Amino acid sequence: MPVPVSQMWTVASYVIGQKLAGRKQYPLVLMLEPLFRCNLACAGCGKIQYPAHILKKDLSPEECFKAVDECGAPMVSIPGGEPLMHPEIDKIVDGLVARKKYIYLCTNALLLKEKIHLFKPSKYLTFSVHLDGQREEHDLAVCREGGYDIAVDAVKGALKRGFRVTTNTTLFDGANPKSVRAFFDEMMDLGVEGMMLSPGYSYDKAPDQKHFLGRARTRRMFRAILSNRKKNWQFNLSPLFLEFLMGKRTYPCTPWGMPTYNVFGWQKPCYLLQDGYAESFKELIETTEWQNYGTESGNPACANCMVHSGYEASAVNATFSSLEGFLATVKATLFTKYEDKDALRMLDEPTAPVNPLIQINPTQQNASRDLQETRA
Ligand code: SF4
Repeated sequence: MPVPVSQMWTVASYVIGQKLAGRKQYPLVLMLEPLFRCNLACAGCGKIQYPAHILKKDLSPEECFKAVDECGAPMVSIPGGEPLMHPEIDKIVDGLVARKKYIYLCTNALLLKEKIHLFKPSKYLTFSVHLDGQREEHDLAVCREGGYDIAVDAVKGALKRGFRVTTNTTLFDGANPKSVRAFFDEMMDLGVEGMMLSPGYSYDKAPDQKHFLGRARTRRMFRAILSNRKKNWQFNLSPLFLEFLMGKRTYPCTPWGMPTYNVFGWQKPCYLLQDGYAESFKELIETTEWQNYGTESGNPACANCMVHSGYEASAVNATFSSLEGFLATVKATLFTKYEDKDALRMLDEPTAPVNPLIQINPTQQNASRDLQETRA
């Protein structure tokens, strides 16, 4: 099931409207983080390493609505933390549906079965389930045995109730391209609407600093994964962003395309870095020194970054910036299989050993306490 035409139309007419108005820095997706608490403590995550008094904080539904109205983006992604742990997540979702925003509620799905009765199926609401690969790979990435089975079971339940469901996958160094491709098959067989992909970003707060990808390795890995593509694979991403990951295109980062609002305010400059906060979206746009960010700026924090939150909006902007961009998007969507013999050979190359598995107590919310490391 592809993205509904109404969503494509909403996004396309919004971007064209911004361009006709001459706006260069416009938001496409608001990254709304209503809390940082989580029921997992993934090794590659920089979001849950805050002190307890910050982890206890929630954005109120009113604060969320104010941010959404101020920003005006047609899509709202709700990551975190784990949004299903927010005590008023149903009110937040209802308020955004009433505003006709296309919502991607990003969840590890551990609580989805228990909380799904709080939500009603809607074309505006998609559960974007965090799954980092096949069973073994996912459980290692989220440091939780059994996490994959719980998530897959929750996906089946949500699909049965008529919800839109996508997956959301972060790939780190050592990911096995063959296994990632098999994972795509599994997800399509499950019946999800589409898959989102991103390379991991090297958060300085993340407990595991050894497995983040440099740009050259990122391109090579995505070329192996995304070339010789199967017809039935559906991605919930701009096709030009996928070509960017494969090394076929270069784009500058457009961090304002996916601005972040959380318990600290509007985060400068992007979802990943924290170079201060603004009190309003207008202040964020007007006071951030955007020229200091993006790989081309020479900022070491941006040197290896190719993440979705920095570059997908760049790819969407490219689609609507020229006839060439538009035709390239149509061609990539309808006709391109990306046949590549070298990429096929890459699938048989040995990959780096897997990460150690860190088993956590599911009730524990701070990864820094009592971690017990086991070898996979
Ligand atoms: S390159 Fe990455 S880290 Fe730097 S501003 Fe863009 S999204 Fe943020």
